[in-house]
Amino acid sequence: MPRPIEALVHTAALAHNLARARAAAPEARVWAVVKANAYGHGIERAFEGLRGADGFALLDLAEAERVRALGWRGPVLLLEGCFEPRDLELCSRLNLWHVVHHAAQIDWLAAHKTKAPQRVFLKMNSGMNRLGFRPEAFRAAYARLQALPQVDEISLMTHFADADGPRGIAQPLAVFEAATQDLPGERSLANSAAMLRHGAAAGGPTGAAVRSDWVRAGILVYGSAPDFPAHDIAHWDLRPTMTLRSRLIATQALQPGDSVGYGGRFTAEVPMRIGIVACGYADGYPRHAGNGTPVLVDGVRTGIVGRVSMDMLAVDLEPLPQAGVGSEVTLWGRSSTGAVLPIDEVAHAAATIGYELMCALAQRVPVRVVD
Ligand SMILES: *Cc1c(COP(=O)(O)O)cnc(C)c1O
Repeated sequence: MPRPIEALVHTAALAHNLARARAAAPEARVWAVVKANAYGHGIERAFEGLRGADGFALLDLAEAERVRALGWRGPVLLLEGCFEPRDLELCSRLNLWHVVHHAAQIDWLAAHKTKAPQRVFLKMNSGMNRLGFRPEAFRAAYARLQALPQVDEISLMTHFADADGPRGIAQPLAVFEAATQDLPGERSLANSAAMLRHGAAAGGPTGAAVRSDWVRAGILVYGSAPDFPAHDIAHWDLRPTMTLRSRLIATQALQPGDSVGYGGRFTAEVPMRIGIVACGYADGYPRHAGNGTPVLVDGVRTGIVGRVSMDMLAVDLEPLPQAGVGSEVTLWGRSSTGAVLPIDEVAHAAATIGYELMCALAQRVPVRVVD
């Protein structure tokens, strides 16, 4: 028997969450963001659940080729654009739309030989200071692109630095709108946090922005709340799309004073039973998860005890007198009983975010696609 760990990708949950994205921005078209191998789910495995999207956004050219290889003929957007001039050949060959965020990318386009002009998304740096033209340089970049025979339609884009946080999107949105007011072209502004927190439900001027032509739905389609712990997936009506589960491979009876695992970071104060789970940091489970990080055993919530090691971790079986070797352990996602443990709770306990955990699912974990 193989080691009992496995991950599940839930097709119906992906489709449900995508529908939630549509509901948050009912007038917009929706990019399903599938960068980082569909946030660790696997592009090919997530595709069935996400094929109802209007396009796929990603940043690795090899991943764009994989989306085309799945037979997707609709829009594909390279979120970081081209990394070198010859990437434009692939854009021509595979009909990829691409972000233009710095001046050299315009030079490369000007030198590119193509029969079919390309669609580009001109990106503004509205305060995040990662990618994009500053507002005062934006119009000149637009004019340069407009003059190029290599360029077809120009769309306008920005990315908010704090859509999930207290600063919100009003200020960068005002910057974007002031600089682009009279420029033609479709707009793409919102990521998951902007859609959920400042979208259709929020109304007002930010709601209008989120209702722009294209929204970019990433983490929300993967069933993680962009603003946890302020809100959880139940609040946003999202469903887990990835389950990581394993089984107990041993149990131990601890006496007061007995400690668990490397470094003895947990010590029993009373007699207690613990279970040893076939899952460790080499599977992608966060080593920084502390005592009490939630876990489901046979669908019942309990907590981990002691340090996470490479291949194993330990769980408190006090709430589970019946549990033993072979009992199902859900590290995150949905248990066979239907009980849900949001990945965000595990991430929070390990001082990180759901994004990082799902992206870090290890290669050695076998993955199955289920409905
Ligand atoms: C990753 C990314 C997104 C999606 O962000 P989420 O927070 O996962 O929704 C949107 N836009 C850009 C430019 C990105 O890089």
